[in-house]
Amino acid sequence: MATLTIYFDIKQFEVVLFGMAFILGNINGRAVLVDGDNYFDIESISNGAISSNPMDAITKYSELHALSAQLHAATPTGKVSEVTLGPPITQPKNCFAVGLNYKSHAAESAMELPTNPLVFTKFPSCLVGPTADVELRSDAVDYEVELVVVIGTAGKDIDASDAWSHVAGVTIGQDISDRMVQFAAQPPHFDLGKSFDTFGPIGPFMYSTDHFSNLNDFTLETRINDEVRQSDTTKNLIFDVPFLIQYLSHITSLSPGDIIFTGTPDGVGAAQGKFLRDGDVITTTIGGLGTMTNTCRRVSNFNKGN
Ligand code: ZN
Repeated sequence: MATLTIYFDIKQFEVVLFGMAFILGNINGRAVLVDGDNYFDIESISNGAISSNPMDAITKYSELHALSAQLHAATPTGKVSEVTLGPPITQPKNCFAVGLNYKSHAAESAMELPTNPLVFTKFPSCLVGPTADVELRSDAVDYEVELVVVIGTAGKDIDASDAWSHVAGVTIGQDISDRMVQFAAQPPHFDLGKSFDTFGPIGPFMYSTDHFSNLNDFTLETRINDEVRQSDTTKNLIFDVPFLIQYLSHITSLSPGDIIFTGTPDGVGAAQGKFLRDGDVITTTIGGLGTMTNTCRRVSNFNKGN
């Protein structure tokens, strides 16, 4: 009996000091913690200490580690398999993205390797969940699998060596791009063509960084219907996550919930003349982070307005 007591004391000590890795999701606009197929409403299991707003949950991500350790004693709110997931990050202040950040993709795009990160923004209004439809408004819409990093601790002038400690977690992203709009203006610009509504599927969940022993080697894959189009690993990033955080935070303050699409490897449709078509199913997988499945729907043509 005495041994048992000591055991629990040690477990409690570890939980207080280190907490546990957690998985954060969004169901019907409410932040949830996920354990297997069970989900737990964060506002209810925290007794109101953390609001239901997913952005509030990310601000309090340190507390989510401790909360996650208590899931075994809590009653699940429901089953993940029976609901539709929203994007785990709903309204970031900033949604950064990085172009040409893999050598293989720069080569297939016939572009010089960048000497500094090529950063653009995806408007936060383009973010949708991991099973949302993607709306096509031209015949030149493309897919790009990317590791998405979520800032948890605000910072300015963050050193690369300290960068991961500012990250709440990681998730999968599809940087959907209308190449016609991307290259419609001269010089070309990325923001508009990559910010149509539905052009930012993310999810299915945000995984806290302590799930992973190596944060610099995530495998990435895009399949269109049954065909593998992209397959690589984040080992091959030109500018890795710590460098991107250092670079961005020298320019702008990073806030909790800000996200960074870190770039895509080769295999995009533009390089193969294989753009997305009505009914195509985009299956996006990152090792350890699960899979997103998004179906393309052809809607009206984009009107250039000239
Ligand atoms: Zn991209």
